[in-house]
Amino acid sequence: MKAREFYNENERIAVVTTEPFARTLDYLAPEGGCKIGSFLILPLGKRKVMGVVWGPGDGQYDHSKLRNAISVIDAPPMSFLMRKFLEAVSDYTITPLNLILRLSSRVPDLNKPTATQKVFSLVSNHSDFKKTPQRNRLISALSKINKNKLTTKEIVSISGVSTSVIAAAARIGILNEELISRDNPYPVLNPDFNPKKLNPNQINVCKKINNFQKKNNFSAILLQGVTGSGKTEVYLEAVANALRKGEQVLVLLPEIALTSEFFSRVKNRFGENPAEWHSGATLAERRRVWKMVASGGAKLVIGARSALFLPFMNLGLVIVDEEHDHSYKQEDGVIYNARDMAVLRSSIERSTVILASATPSLESWVNAKNGKYNHFQIHERYGDASLPNLSAIDLREENLKIDEWISCKLEKAITECLQNNDQSLLFLNRRGYSPTTVCRACGNQISCDECDARMVEHRFINRLMCHQCGHTKAMLDKCPACGIKGKLAVVGPGVERLAEEAQIKFPKAKISVLSSDLYGSAKSLKDKIQKISEGSTDIIIGTQLVAKGYNFPKLRLVGVIDIDIGLHGSDLRAAERTYQLVRQVSGRAGRTDHRGRALIQTYQPEHPVVEAILKGDDDDFWVSEAKQRELACMPPFGKLVGIIISSSNLERAMFLANQLKKNTRSLDKIGARVYGPAPAPISRIKRRHRIRLLIKSPRTPELQDAVRKWVAKVSLKGDLRLSIDIDPQSFY
Ligand code: ADP
Ligand code: ZN
Repeated sequence: MKAREFYNENERIAVVTTEPFARTLDYLAPEGGCKIGSFLILPLGKRKVMGVVWGPGDGQYDHSKLRNAISVIDAPPMSFLMRKFLEAVSDYTITPLNLILRLSSRVPDLNKPTATQKVFSLVSNHSDFKKTPQRNRLISALSKINKNKLTTKEIVSISGVSTSVIAAAARIGILNEELISRDNPYPVLNPDFNPKKLNPNQINVCKKINNFQKKNNFSAILLQGVTGSGKTEVYLEAVANALRKGEQVLVLLPEIALTSEFFSRVKNRFGENPAEWHSGATLAERRRVWKMVASGGAKLVIGARSALFLPFMNLGLVIVDEEHDHSYKQEDGVIYNARDMAVLRSSIERSTVILASATPSLESWVNAKNGKYNHFQIHERYGDASLPNLSAIDLREENLKIDEWISCKLEKAITECLQNNDQSLLFLNRRGYSPTTVCRACGNQISCDECDARMVEHRFINRLMCHQCGHTKAMLDKCPACGIKGKLAVVGPGVERLAEEAQIKFPKAKISVLSSDLYGSAKSLKDKIQKISEGSTDIIIGTQLVAKGYNFPKLRLVGVIDIDIGLHGSDLRAAERTYQLVRQVSGRAGRTDHRGRALIQTYQPEHPVVEAILKGDDDDFWVSEAKQRELACMPPFGKLVGIIISSSNLERAMFLANQLKKNTRSLDKIGARVYGPAPAPISRIKRRHRIRLLIKSPRTPELQDAVRKWVAKVSLKGDLRLSIDIDPQSFY
């Protein structure tokens, strides 16, 4: 039964608040009544909190003791489908609904009146003033564009006149000045502004996608195509289709703060900028996005994973670009995978979702193979660009010196690039100077005081850093264990050390290190990437950061320094991840006209993953990886749930874990097994001990209920914490 839409003053309502209560609270509707979904200000003890009307009150409480909600916030009520979505996320992730509501109402000052801003329009009868060259310039610039209500900043950038000229023009009546709300609608995007001429492959896929969009029903599409095959152009056409239908569109990108290239593509295609949602955006901008999404004044949002929780009113299309990317998984706070939740949201909204990737996750690939998703592929690169030539360098034959990682063969290839004025990229997925510092006197490895993790030397900032908690300390000149001086030595390379080696081997080359920790802000990193793509660097040395979709047109050679690092991991997805990373990184080479080349250094060229990468046959790799997972009943064929119990006190954490292990009846019933408890691979983070349990279960919709019942048997006292990770990606 659908709940009533309106509640009169003093009627009993059930409210979900953003406070730590896992259930709804009963209140009486405020003066003037409220709608279902309304955002309310509520009294809670002595405080005022925010909540959303979820339905009628349940009648359990004494009516006379209930308090009235204080007021209705001036924001569109949360839609029925949005509430369904939040409930579904809460159910799937086993997270209290109030925490999910918090994700979706994370907007600054929702309850405050909107700020205003000054805008100007050109007055049509404005002959009566002293003409100056500046004023003429202003008038001619503004009469050429068919847009009014421009901010000072916009006028400066359009006309080039100074702010004082604008102020004077407003005083003497050339410009009309007014104050408007900052939460104003975004400019209208024109789906036919600048369509690209698509090639036959692209047209074919676009047509099929459009057919799904026309059905106005749920459909999930895996759009797979090598880097540079024109997937982005294809899904921008799907965006155009949705815009023509008046629907809203969300495009999720990993590392959004860095992708200015994407925004210029959107502007180029649709004539205006879309709304932008990520942690780097200003508070005023985020609030504008939230409000305009809720009221329909924003049709296209480009966002980071949390944009999935924006209150769209008519969401017709969601695109998850680079769908395999691990940054879609939020691993602290509410643990969820934005890619999976995007599919869930689309199924509730009955809309289309497109997962795009050159190297999809095995989960999505299997869903596509078994028909749950539609699978559209583009096999060739767009235009004349061809895929890089891949080959391995067998390090067993190379006689590398200790503390040397660039082989002769790789060195020769880099030299050739330098001679031709081309860029090369060396890929090593290790930040810092060196991953390990050991004492040659006592064998002690320098580790973090707070965590079970080694301290990594970072020469650039001249400190040791823990990659778990971010804690840093000064470099040491003697061993903290034995006190002997001058015996500390670094073992193994990080990108900073590799850069040192490269600078010695290529003294004249301009070398840049791209690693997320080396740049103070997203902006400085973005600027650096921009400079590199313009050709300011000869050799780029980078971590996995470079696997993302940046376009370096002059890049011809990619050297993978050590593919074996990734393959050693005991992680379920070690092979898959290495495969994806190396394919993505090597795909950076030769995107435009020349053919690129990728050289992969390895001590085990016969390893199946290395062979699959060299062969370049994606399907081969996925087929064999899927077979292995299926035999082991591992995801996506079976389900995993990670449980982490943590506390400052190891015994207490272990005791709780054992209590859980003792009674697993609800899990036994569905055929699930519990492994552990065992100390987590990183057994301590920020002084908290960590114990892991792992549930392995057949795929069944009853899993969440069984887990919920199981954990409900124990109580979390003191600083004990229990976190549940459905479909875990990492196992540390
Ligand atoms: P992908 O998303 O698969 O990596 P892109 O869509 O970024 O591929 O396309 C790669 C390059 O080719 C881009 O520079 C893009 O602008 C260009 N391109 C792709 N399709 C077309 C087209 N139909 N017309 C013109 N340029 C195109
Ligand atoms: Zn630490």
